[in-house]
Amino acid sequence: MLDLTGKNALVTGIANNRSIAWGIAQQLHAAGANLGITYLPDATGKMEKKVSSLVEPLNPSLFLPCNVQDEDQTQATFDAIKEKWGQLDILIHCLAFAHRDDLMGDFSNVSRQGFQTALDISAYSLVSLARAAKPLMTAGGSIVTLTYLGGVRVIPNYNTMGIAKAALEMNVRYLAAEMGAQQIRVNGISAGPIRTLASSAVGGILDMIHHVEEVAPLRRTVTQQEVGSTAAFLCSDLSSGITGQILYVDSGYAIMGM
Ligand code: NAD
Repeated sequence: MLDLTGKNALVTGIANNRSIAWGIAQQLHAAGANLGITYLPDATGKMEKKVSSLVEPLNPSLFLPCNVQDEDQTQATFDAIKEKWGQLDILIHCLAFAHRDDLMGDFSNVSRQGFQTALDISAYSLVSLARAAKPLMTAGGSIVTLTYLGGVRVIPNYNTMGIAKAALEMNVRYLAAEMGAQQIRVNGISAGPIRTLASSAVGGILDMIHHVEEVAPLRRTVTQQEVGSTAAFLCSDLSSGITGQILYVDSGYAIMGM
């Protein structure tokens, strides 16, 4: 049985009720996990308010600001986990960012700064969060990140984010190799296209979704809940032999040649 009772899980990347991280948090909660939630703070405090009322029904025992570009905030997040929980079992990395201009048109137009920002937030952040989580995962653990097919094949407009996802997927393998001896497993879920805040920045996202509905073996897109239940599986003992893998939750789309 999928049981996460007694497991402490940190979930990043909830912005609203369409976020994949929200689907994951709900599934982890349903399986009995004790949740810590981080949000991306803004100057107005709007995001804090919005995410805080959304996650209230899941009774998170930690609720913290964490901009992954801010090393001090990242450290403060893990200091709070150490103080409150002592031990961390699960880390969900479910965030990404690239400038809207870098998610359309000719890939070669990407600026150095745009490229660095996308790679920093979307790929390096997994390394920095995993590094901070490692000493707290004293009884082993599971780290799960979110990726997309555009990291292994060319998808129109995905552009710079595709490069970031390629780096992210390689991060999964290097981190899995490093942390396996400590029984920390690191895996990625490659989700099919879902309408969210982040995906709406990708040029032609609706066309991508309609294409999947026509071509994918299941003839539909996937839901946040389906990604969430796969994440719960990857965080549970049911997947104890799996690490360093990218698991496709995409209605089977990635197997198709035409
Ligand atoms: P979303 O907009 O709901 O989530 C993206 C999150 O990233 C937001 O919560 C945002 O606050 C956070 N974020 C951005 N910059 C940050 C920073 N500097 N520090 C901390 N957090 C930051 O969109 P989503 O689609 O749920 O995206 C979640 C993950 O799923 C991303 O990695 C995305 O690439 C991946 N993914 C999405 C799809 C899709 O079609 N929606 C498909 C495959 C993979």
